Amino acid sequence: MSLLRSPNQKPVKLQLRRDLVRSVKRGHAWIYADALRKLPQTGRGVPAILLDNRGGRDIGGGYYDPQGSIALRVCTTQRGEALDDAWAADRMQRAISLRHRLFDENTTGYRLFNGEGDGLPGLVCDRYADAAVLQLDGEAARNFWHAPGIAAWLADCLELPIVYERLRGQSGPRGRVLFGPSPDHPVHFLEHGVQFTADLINGQKTGFYLDQRENRHRMQNYAAGKQVLNVFGYTGGFSVYAGVGGAARVTTVDSARLALDAAAAHWTLNGLDAERHTVVCADAFEFLSEAKKDGRTWDTVILDPPSFAPSSESLQKALRAYKKLIAAGASVTAEDGILATGSCSSHVSMENFMAACQDGVGEARRQATTLGIYSQPADHPAPLAMPEFRYLKFIILRVN
Ligand code: SAH
Repeated sequence: MSLLRSPNQKPVKLQLRRDLVRSVKRGHAWIYADALRKLPQTGRGVPAILLDNRGGRDIGGGYYDPQGSIALRVCTTQRGEALDDAWAADRMQRAISLRHRLFDENTTGYRLFNGEGDGLPGLVCDRYADAAVLQLDGEAARNFWHAPGIAAWLADCLELPIVYERLRGQSGPRGRVLFGPSPDHPVHFLEHGVQFTADLINGQKTGFYLDQRENRHRMQNYAAGKQVLNVFGYTGGFSVYAGVGGAARVTTVDSARLALDAAAAHWTLNGLDAERHTVVCADAFEFLSEAKKDGRTWDTVILDPPSFAPSSESLQKALRAYKKLIAAGASVTAEDGILATGSCSSHVSMENFMAACQDGVGEARRQATTLGIYSQPADHPAPLAMPEFRYLKFIILRVN
């Protein structure tokens, strides 16, 4: 079975209007529609060759989407390289070999393919022990990559009994089985020896927020003997690490009831005392403002909200929301406590986010020192030339 939907299709030729040759050669994989001379009418996701803006020299290849704002995803910058099964298999092998260098048997949940960051534009795959979940980014990616073929290849190469595909749906989770049985039960996996499960069918994203693994691990060091508050806790990732790190008590807040049930289960799955963990189903902003009113504080506060900026237009609004959240978090952080906060929005730069931290802590009439500035882990690589692909920010502060 092929890894691509139309491996033998003759590529369309697209010519640059703007001089983006250097950017393409440096590894920027997105060409926006307004940077192309003409937008020929074709199907979405057809193979394409990119020609430079001057003499029409071939500078790379990729797949084309006449309807997308990203008109071309560049897959190769080697002149004449065919986008065929051998090419795709080589890119996937390279991605897998990186993960083999990164992880041992104590970490069995990680991102196997991170799209552009692995030279596989639009193709994401997360691995949870013996199960994999594919996610293709948009209609063009779904027409270029052949999901059932990739699933069969993965099942064979990594001896995986289950490969599932998550589809981005507006109205709740959608997906389909690509290989093996349906993953009807949550799948068990490890992160740094800590035990979790992921619900591949109904969970958020592909079931778990794998991108925060190293930040969760870092926060484990700030937990011993402490009162910890984990806001936007989902299935208890940060909470369980804090518990394993010896926290005196952990409170997990989220608005998703099902996620909190999983958080409670993950806590006991790791042999931790259920008495030391409280889950609260509430809106994060309301919970924090009530806690402030009641004069409650925690030694360590973790804020890991969903993206507040789904588009670049919503940036200012998002920055105000981050500031408000960080102010609320700082207000319930004990004297000399730790406040850790993240942003997963690609439209918010590290600089903007640091400024929101400054403004938020200031608004709470507190001061802080920066203990660490972090981003996404190595199994979520980003092309150096695409800073917008390095979406995750995570700041650890000491608040006095
Ligand atoms: N820290 C988690 C991931 C958090 S994802 C981990 O390590 O796994 C963001 C979470 O915020 C989701 O679980 C979502 O249910 C929750 N959420 C979104 N809006 C919320 C709100 N207004 N109040 C509380 N929780 C919210």
